[in-house]
Amino acid sequence: MKVRTSSAVSTRDVARSLAGALRPGDVVVLSGELGAGKTTFTQGLAAGFGVTAPVLSPTFALVHEYDGHPPLVHVDVYRLDHLQELHDLGFEELLDSERVVVIEWGENVARALPPDRLVVRLELGVEPDERWISVAVHGARWRTRTAQLESALAAFTGGDSA
Ligand code: ADP
Ligand code: MG
Repeated sequence: MKVRTSSAVSTRDVARSLAGALRPGDVVVLSGELGAGKTTFTQGLAAGFGVTAPVLSPTFALVHEYDGHPPLVHVDVYRLDHLQELHDLGFEELLDSERVVVIEWGENVARALPPDRLVVRLELGVEPDERWISVAVHGARWRTRTAQLESALAAFTGGDSA
């Protein structure tokens, strides 16, 4: 599944729509280079969960938790040097059935993640504000949910109008 956006607002809209297909306990890995839009995407997910607090890059704190339905855990492991740091932050305890956990640069800590995860890749396009967002499912938890994800993204697959 792949969609194109041409503004940060559209990327948030895509994420907000995808949020409707997520369930407590889901793990979402965000990959893509610096500035690709991982934090922007997370802001859209948070909006979809009804989070009203501003969602900022957790680059320095590593982990932020937002009160939403479901609660959202936002992790950024860009500056992580050792997996042990993630462990020390109590990361494993956050992977429970009540929250949705979103991890920027999650591919860097793949070993610490459950095999069931949604991988959202953000890529820069040719135009300055162009981004390509691809969504891939991994593991049995997601196997039966592709149609739901597709329908959440259906409104955007023809490109956005922004
Ligand atoms: P990352 O977390 O991947 O480093 P950010 O979300 O922090 O990226 O930053 C993305 C930057 O790109 C923001 O300044 C955002 O406004 C800008 N931007 C421009 N076009 C888009 C788009 N289509 N989608 C997402 N962000 C965009
Ligand atoms: Mg970021």
